[in-house]
Amino acid sequence: MAQQIADRRDVDFVLYEQFDIEALTKNKRYSDMNKKMFDMIINEARNFAIKEILPVNEEGDKIGLKFENNQVTVPECFHRPYELLREGEWIAMTEAPEIGGQGLPHIIAQVAAEYIVGADFSFGAFGFATHGAAKMVEIFGTEKQKEMFLGKMYSGQWGGTMVLTEPEAGSDVGNLITTAKKNDDGTYSISGNKIFITAGEHDLTENIIHPVLARIEGAPAGTKGISLFIVPKFWVNEDGSMGDANDVVCTGIEEKLGLHASPTCQLTFGGKGNCRGLLLGEENKGMRVMFHMMNEARLGVGALGLFNASCAYLYAVNYAKERVQGRDMADMFNKDAQPVTIIRHPDVRRMLMWMKTHVEGMRSFVYYVAYLFDRIECAETGEEKTALDDLVGLLTPIIKSYCTDRGFQCTVEAMQIYGGYGYTKDYPVERLMRDSKINSIYEGTNGIQAMDLLGRKMGMKKGAVFMQLLGEIQKTIAAARQADGLDGLAGQLEESINRLGSIAMHMGKTATSPDFKVAFAHASQFLDVMGDIIMAWMLLWRASVAAPKLAKIVGGAEGDARAEKVAKNKNAAFYEGQVKSAEYFIQTILPITLGKMTSIEANSKAVIDIPEVSFGG
Ligand SMILES: Cc1cc2nc3c(=O)[nH]c(=O)nc-3n(C[C@H](O)[C@H](O)[C@H](O)COP(=O)(O)OP(=O)(O)OC[C@H]3O[C@@H](n4cnc5c(N)ncnc54)[C@H](O)[C@@H]3O)c2cc1C
Repeated sequence: MAQQIADRRDVDFVLYEQFDIEALTKNKRYSDMNKKMFDMIINEARNFAIKEILPVNEEGDKIGLKFENNQVTVPECFHRPYELLREGEWIAMTEAPEIGGQGLPHIIAQVAAEYIVGADFSFGAFGFATHGAAKMVEIFGTEKQKEMFLGKMYSGQWGGTMVLTEPEAGSDVGNLITTAKKNDDGTYSISGNKIFITAGEHDLTENIIHPVLARIEGAPAGTKGISLFIVPKFWVNEDGSMGDANDVVCTGIEEKLGLHASPTCQLTFGGKGNCRGLLLGEENKGMRVMFHMMNEARLGVGALGLFNASCAYLYAVNYAKERVQGRDMADMFNKDAQPVTIIRHPDVRRMLMWMKTHVEGMRSFVYYVAYLFDRIECAETGEEKTALDDLVGLLTPIIKSYCTDRGFQCTVEAMQIYGGYGYTKDYPVERLMRDSKINSIYEGTNGIQAMDLLGRKMGMKKGAVFMQLLGEIQKTIAAARQADGLDGLAGQLEESINRLGSIAMHMGKTATSPDFKVAFAHASQFLDVMGDIIMAWMLLWRASVAAPKLAKIVGGAEGDARAEKVAKNKNAAFYEGQVKSAEYFIQTILPITLGKMTSIEANSKAVIDIPEVSFGG
């Protein structure tokens, strides 16, 4: 059971061998920390996840939520882990201790989240939403607002949400019609209906703080006229105590494919004309504040894709090692041959290898971005900080979109490996598949992410940020060339990034031509290509760390003698797995990526030119 969230060996490899995060402790900010402390925190997160959260996952999914008299009741089994989540101070791991946080590096918090959220995605959503809401108060709130809300939110005593969506304002948030009217006492009266609000109503916390997007009467149309308000379920007095119920009513919850224990709420604000809110940040600048939170949330949702994929892979690989079915192909003509476990079949190995390489590549990618945040915190010059910030900006839509698509696909492959059993509720992979689909839809659909990448991020600093990314990849290529046996793979990746450079130019040109719609019709494919290249980069990086260590263990042994050494030594087996992952991805997937680039370059206009009526329907 223990490995069924995240493989600890792989986690440690990324932290200490690929990225050498111990170097962080040399910086003043983290100088009172060390590897022992990091390991202890990860152990605690893992134990908490395995002992307290994983066991409630199935029950939470089966029991689901109760909605009665405008109130939502979560499964009873969620209460104990939630109390432990609070006691362990897991919600505000990276925040400063003065405001209730633990001041930990982002990369350590990312690992802890992989265990805690990966153990149960419905449960994880409560802490995730609260953290995002509190972060906005921390960055954009007044001193008074911070005093009133921060401590109780970061400790999990109060929950938090993110309230954007309305029936006519989904992807197009600027279309919202919820209104705000300033009162004489400086508060605002809020009025409107919101839908799809995660954790919008529940009984895990005594209060829920809603950051609500609304338009102040008379403000301009579109995103420029949107402001953000803190709207508590129960009013909060200036001394931080709770007052009367605010006029926020949950009018229903969604019946949905997955996340059965995570309430997705319809909320009415001011139905009785009595809903009060506090302005967060400046009037009409709400989208700026919300974007901050959305960027954090997009990275977080991308990480969910990794967590889904990792769980699905570990379930599948364990199942494939146990399920006995069919004879080994090599024994096809041997009538006395015994049935074997399905991991012996080439097609099952194909699916496992596809999953393994994506899980590893995504883990490195997601941790890399978390590590960029730590490097931002430790940056010594403004220039360095800006360069790292920009890189995060460029990578954000890719992490959100690529990891959630591949995360879902990993759950699909896992189900395939289980055969018919995977389709039943007897095994956890069908739940994982149901729970993971939403990741490509919320926090800005993946299509919107692709438009962001092409329309905004590729052009950042006239393409210099993209070039910076290619420069980072080149460093890995150079290192791989030094490692025994990786020269060919390094060459293949180099060829691919050169090609990517010209495809990016082609996309840039088309996007600014009268044919710009054609470019955007290929934007998702382009994002996919970027994601594949990043996977290849991360896997080659891993291999170039692993190869010399593997060579040291096996010495000059060859053939059976080498195979025996690898089989007997856990580290050797792991390092061999890293080299094979890079080999598989670069030799088997990357050529398909080159094909995708060819398809982009062909610039087919069919998607745009086809008359609407010709779609049929
Ligand atoms: C389980 C769940 C939890 C959620 N949690 C929250 C929450 O906590 N807070 C919150 O505010 N919202 C939340 N949402 C809402 C979610 O963010 C929206 O559903 C999402 O933004 C898409 O909006 P929509 O559903 O209106 O789809 P639409 O915007 O109608 O999109 C439909 C399709 O059209 C595409 N599309 C739309 N516009 C464009 C365009 N300009 N260019 C190209 N393609 C476009 C989309 O990519 C999509 O494929 C949640 C939704 C669900 C299902």
